[in-house]
Amino acid sequence: MSALDARQRPALLRELARERFDLVVVGGGITGAGIARDAALRGMSVALLEAEDFAAGTSNRSTKLIHGGLRYLAMGDFALVREAALERKAVHAMAPHLAEPRWMVLPARSRLEFLKYSIGVSLYETLGAVGREDRRASWDAAMLAESEPLLDRTRFRRACVYREYLTDDARLVIATLRAAAGAGACVASRLRVDGMLRERDRVIGARARCGLTGEVVEVRARSVVNAAGPWAERVAALEDEPGDGPRLHLSKGVHIVLPRARLPIENLLYLPMPDGRAVFAIPRGSTVYVGTTDTSWDGDRRLWPEVEAADVDYLLEPVARCFDVPAPGRDDVIATWAGLRPLIARPGKAARELSRRDEIWTGSGGMLTIAGGKLTGFRHMAEDVLAAVERSSGVTLPPPPGPTTLPGGDFEGSPETLARSLPGTDNLAPGCAERLARLYGTEARAVLESGAEPLVPGGELVRGEIDWAVTREAAHDLEDVIYRRTRAAWYSPAEREAVLLPVAARMATLLGWTDLERSSQIEATRARLADEFAFRG
Ligand code: FAD
Repeated sequence: MSALDARQRPALLRELARERFDLVVVGGGITGAGIARDAALRGMSVALLEAEDFAAGTSNRSTKLIHGGLRYLAMGDFALVREAALERKAVHAMAPHLAEPRWMVLPARSRLEFLKYSIGVSLYETLGAVGREDRRASWDAAMLAESEPLLDRTRFRRACVYREYLTDDARLVIATLRAAAGAGACVASRLRVDGMLRERDRVIGARARCGLTGEVVEVRARSVVNAAGPWAERVAALEDEPGDGPRLHLSKGVHIVLPRARLPIENLLYLPMPDGRAVFAIPRGSTVYVGTTDTSWDGDRRLWPEVEAADVDYLLEPVARCFDVPAPGRDDVIATWAGLRPLIARPGKAARELSRRDEIWTGSGGMLTIAGGKLTGFRHMAEDVLAAVERSSGVTLPPPPGPTTLPGGDFEGSPETLARSLPGTDNLAPGCAERLARLYGTEARAVLESGAEPLVPGGELVRGEIDWAVTREAAHDLEDVIYRRTRAAWYSPAEREAVLLPVAARMATLLGWTDLERSSQIEATRARLADEFAFRG
């Protein structure tokens, strides 16, 4: 059972209960997805169990950059920066639609600041083996005024400009999981692991409860890997009593979304903050998102951490300070998201001082836990985990698969070029073909074939996306489609409310929902969308 078809759920659960797998992965964020892909491509039989929807956790709340993290150079973490900087090209090769090269602008307030940026970027480019065509540029005042005319010219006189890669985190997770499923992995959402199966002292599988029916499934495996992100300690506690002190330090990161018309910038922009943190402004379609905050979090580990008024004000301030635009207020914010970074704890260190490194540890029953890391490093994290699986199980695996193409990634050039090659796009709303190319890559053709008519008149979401989400990407709930498949919640704010009814109607047909179920799906998603504005009080 390798298809991600939500309609095949009963068969999927039967298979999970029947087989004995080489590997069970707990958690369907980018870390778990990367491990499942790597293991399946190396011939292992794999089951992945995700408690909620795929990418429901941190892997949908990032800044969406495939990057080396220039600022970690200042922390002296050269090896980490080098690995991540090199990884940008690998992810681009796997999925050009999900790692789009864009210019990142570092506006400088003084010659000294410009020099500091240039030295940092030059080192970054050396570490990342950046090719000549992608090397940094220096913009003087005239070029800065021409390329980003809204930046406050009295404050910024020059800029250092270099290449970074823009991704879509949730879509990257889905594409990686589809690659895993394509190689034979059994990939299941809505299966929360709530216990470990043991034989003598060894962990020999996981017990999971289905979030849709309440059914309990016991999944047996030779090895179990815990990749539950911010919840990794909780899953580890199903095997062992928690030790002294926390292993993870969680930090909350918030992004706000503004209409692009309010801040019409062209490039990715770094906005300096008085406290030394980094805030980025990232244009995407008709929106710009601004983030992130980085505040230690010792609240409960809820799936949707709250966006507070203070977070929003913190992110609005640099927009007012750095740009010649009317200062935006809380009412200009059209969407928000907050996520929890699972960082490896170090006594006495604040969130922003902590390394983004990952760490693997082994429980008393042999379960491996991986935590920390970055979206960008998912392939290397998977390789490290599988090396640990080899050591603990005594098996020898074939070499890692390398950057093989992800579904939809089989094209050269940019998403814009791909969009122009899509058939029958003349009748689509402006920007629609490009949006589809960015989300689905070459699979946008199949999406359009299953329904090219817009979901709302003149809108950019098309009917085929719903069928695709349910039958190819295992979307079970309306929220899955609105937030993590079509991305309407954050990238198509003008339509996010209007498409709820037609999406729910089509999902009801595909999944056999009753009228009551359909209404409660709509209610729940409306409530979730409204919750993004809880900061307004
Ligand atoms: P998650 O994505 O949280 O996945 C863990 C999954 O485990 C969840 O889906 C959860 O539902 C599931 N789970 C939990 N308990 C159970 C259970 N009992 N049974 C089954 N499943 C369970 N990295 C970058 O490279 N670039 C960036 O630009 C970037 N920006 C960031 C910005 C912010 C604000 C934040 C917070 C992080 C950012 N990161 C970035 C880091 C990156 O997002 C994370 O390192 C990465 O997404 C973590 O993925 P994960 O799979 O480990 O965790």
